[in-house]
Amino acid sequence: MSQHIRLYIPGPIEVSPATYAAMSAPMIGHRGKEFAALYDAIQPRLQTLMGTTRPVYLSTSSAWGVMEGALRNLAVKKVLCCANGAFSDKWVEVAHRCGKEADALQFEWGEPINPAALDAKLATGEYDLVTFIHNETSTGVMSSLAEVAAVVNKYDDVLLVTDTVSSFSAVPIEVDKLGIDVLLTGSQKALALPPGLSLFTVSERAMARAATVKDRGYYFDFLEFQKNHEKSNTPSTPCISTIYGLNHQLNAFFDEGLENRYARHIRLNQMVGDWVVRNGFEFFAPEGYRSVTLTCIKNNREIDVNRFSQILRNDHAIAINGGYGKIKGVTFRISNMGDETDETIGTLIAALDDSLGKL
Ligand SMILES: *Cc1c(COP(=O)(O)O)cnc(C)c1O
Repeated sequence: MSQHIRLYIPGPIEVSPATYAAMSAPMIGHRGKEFAALYDAIQPRLQTLMGTTRPVYLSTSSAWGVMEGALRNLAVKKVLCCANGAFSDKWVEVAHRCGKEADALQFEWGEPINPAALDAKLATGEYDLVTFIHNETSTGVMSSLAEVAAVVNKYDDVLLVTDTVSSFSAVPIEVDKLGIDVLLTGSQKALALPPGLSLFTVSERAMARAATVKDRGYYFDFLEFQKNHEKSNTPSTPCISTIYGLNHQLNAFFDEGLENRYARHIRLNQMVGDWVVRNGFEFFAPEGYRSVTLTCIKNNREIDVNRFSQILRNDHAIAINGGYGKIKGVTFRISNMGDETDETIGTLIAALDDSLGKL
């Protein structure tokens, strides 16, 4: 085994020994009673976390599987992809690769999605599906899910697919109240699980549209998920160990209390934010749109981000991220999502100070 480098990168994030222990429960057959019991135990708490009475489906894939699946199930006329960073920009490209008609509603990296601009685009009547990333992990920008959903809901025939991969379980999400048609997330971000599991909901009207769409394929066919859900099951063999881990994490979330969990993410994010300001750095995201699960720091001091990361790794066994794609080095990113505590973020900050001093 290689040395344990503690992850403060925005995914995958640190997985606790208690979670790994829960994941090592004996393997079970997924068509048996034990799996159905596990599936049923997880459902109500996932519904509470998502703010929905609809089923929450378990997909054995990373988030992109469901992101692509949503297009294959729901794109009929034309997709409008809200784009303001690496993940949301790529969603447009994925739509094209699936052979779907799709346009980007493009914003600069670092900007939030502007609901008025979205409204103007949808008013053309060209679109019947919108993709939206709540928390752009590449830039640390959290757009307003409530405002975007309110705009999309003005248009009866337009469905909203929302990626909450790096915000789910760290901030309150209200699927039914906001009228979100597909909400999806992945296991390796705020859920603090290993990668490989995605969770998603599908509204009744989205399910009705999917039923009319050809070429949905099999692995991500929403109707297959529903059919199997009715038997407390999944279409294909799921990542059972990770689902054990999810059950463990849900126990932990509800023991802590969801309000406490949300407050903890804000508090720990503020600790990182204080370090940023204290050291003369700036935020890449504008005020009011800063993510509470990670911080994307503008390298306005023009430090050697590579060397800074190396010192953190060599002297403190800590990993941060040196910036994503075209903003590599111009920014760097630090995650505070998942199981982090005042103590673990305190340790991180001491290490950041020490490493900055050694540059
Ligand atoms: C990490 C991430 C993804 C991609 O998830 P995969 O698990 O790599 O498929 C998508 N969207 C956002 C916002 C992310 O942070």
